[in-house]
Amino acid sequence: MPTVLVTGGAGYIGSHTLRALTRAGYEAVVYDAFLKGHPAAVADYRVVVGELSDRERLERVFAEFPIQAVLHFAAFIEAGESVQDPGKYYRNNVCGTLSLLEAMVRAGVRQCVFSSSAAVYGDPEEVPIPETAPTRPTNPYGRTKLMVGQILDDFHQAYGLRSISLRYFNAAGASPDDDLGEDHHPETHLIPILLEVALGQRDHVDILGNDYPTPDGTCIRDYIHVCDLADAHVLALQALERGAEREVYNLGNGQGFSVLQVVETARAVTGHPVPAQVAPRRPGDPLWLVAAAEKARRELGWTPRFPDLRQIIASAWEWRRRHPRGFPSEPA
Ligand code: UDP
Repeated sequence: MPTVLVTGGAGYIGSHTLRALTRAGYEAVVYDAFLKGHPAAVADYRVVVGELSDRERLERVFAEFPIQAVLHFAAFIEAGESVQDPGKYYRNNVCGTLSLLEAMVRAGVRQCVFSSSAAVYGDPEEVPIPETAPTRPTNPYGRTKLMVGQILDDFHQAYGLRSISLRYFNAAGASPDDDLGEDHHPETHLIPILLEVALGQRDHVDILGNDYPTPDGTCIRDYIHVCDLADAHVLALQALERGAEREVYNLGNGQGFSVLQVVETARAVTGHPVPAQVAPRRPGDPLWLVAAAEKARRELGWTPRFPDLRQIIASAWEWRRRHPRGFPSEPA
């Protein structure tokens, strides 16, 4: 079976996708600098430790392994932080990706699945959002994802590098069976924060703005199970193998939940009162993001297996209860 390079394989979506790749019969080599990822999440995999900007190390990886495609997850992902520290985001997410793509071209590797984001849309004109919607990101993080998409268009034209951008909506959930879950430091994501409150590690959750023009005043998001995202990567890889040239797909369930609805669901799942307090809006937060994901269903044959929000949160809760402090800091 083909060998694939998985940058950011030790991160949340990357580590879940590694398991899906293995189950589909692929050989995977992880490339991760462990700036954010967890060694324990890739303990059973071949790992090269390196940064995207490290040209020599990338070159050695492509020379050493018979890599046919790259799944590129490695990136900084916090929209709020990207507003405070945009240079960090442009350097890693854009310059780092450029370094990776140039190494691919030099090595003759011409298939790439790229982790894009609903953040490229900004505040949409219509919801659910189709892939053809205008792209007007509201924060530097979203702009880095948009720029890489444009670079991929150009690399396709110039070098024949074929790629699929997957625009994730809100990744959530876990695979307790694989002993994997979501564990960011610092944690900024809503669902893991709610579970930390339920575990008594925080005393409340901040509702980041309750004066948005939505039915209950809080932002609306489309939560998609991380295992469903993982499946989509395998399907995207197979589409590239069949000859796909350059495509973009939204990945979401097509159903929006407000922050308050997510809090309520977490209360129901955990049986904990999960106290909430209203706090100021987070700069750069789009109001309403819900996917129109029919294109992925139609063209990739993707069907989310865990579309139910309660089930998504329950899977995250199961892993988190087993690992109240998240991943161990040393390799397992
Ligand atoms: N959010 C919140 N309190 C928190 C973290 C997040 O109210 O402590 C809100 C955030 O403003 C957004 C939604 O929850 O509207 C989802 O945020 P998250 O950071 O999980 O994902 P994002 O949509 O930013 O990728």
